[in-house]
Amino acid sequence: MVSDIDSKFLKIFNEKLSFALSFYFFMFTDEYFMKMAFQEAEIAFEKDEVPIGCVVVSNNRVIARAHNLTETLNDVTAHAEMQAITSAANFLGGKYLINCTLYVTLEPCVMCSGALSWSQISKVVIGARDEQRGFINKSLTLHPKTEIVTGIMENECSAIVKEFFKSKR
Ligand code: ZN
Repeated sequence: MVSDIDSKFLKIFNEKLSFALSFYFFMFTDEYFMKMAFQEAEIAFEKDEVPIGCVVVSNNRVIARAHNLTETLNDVTAHAEMQAITSAANFLGGKYLINCTLYVTLEPCVMCSGALSWSQISKVVIGARDEQRGFINKSLTLHPKTEIVTGIMENECSAIVKEFFKSKR
């Protein structure tokens, strides 16, 4: 039988546990991981690369992070997403990114949306839209199971790209 003291303790324990759990879920928001993607964009900016960054998250854990490296690698395919897809698949030991979410500061281009589609990634969270080069206006979709979210830290993600090209003029 559970004594009074025990039940009191259990009650407090449960309250504390649910508080901790709510904090846990409160912490791992889309903004939380987009901030990490944004940090990658900032690293790209410092390297004089078009500042786009991304992270891949699985079970609230970052399993890949990357930023655009097309200048450094002399490779037009070295977009942040392409590298993150490869890196995440290596980490998981499988080519499909099931139960993974990609956070990317700028809407993926046609090439990257194709790669994301092949990866069967579960969710893609986009910072700023790219009306000209992004896949959405091209009427392309990702894998049918992929959930797409847009507009997370949109202003910051858009501003850093604008600032970059302004510095180039
Ligand atoms: Zn791309």
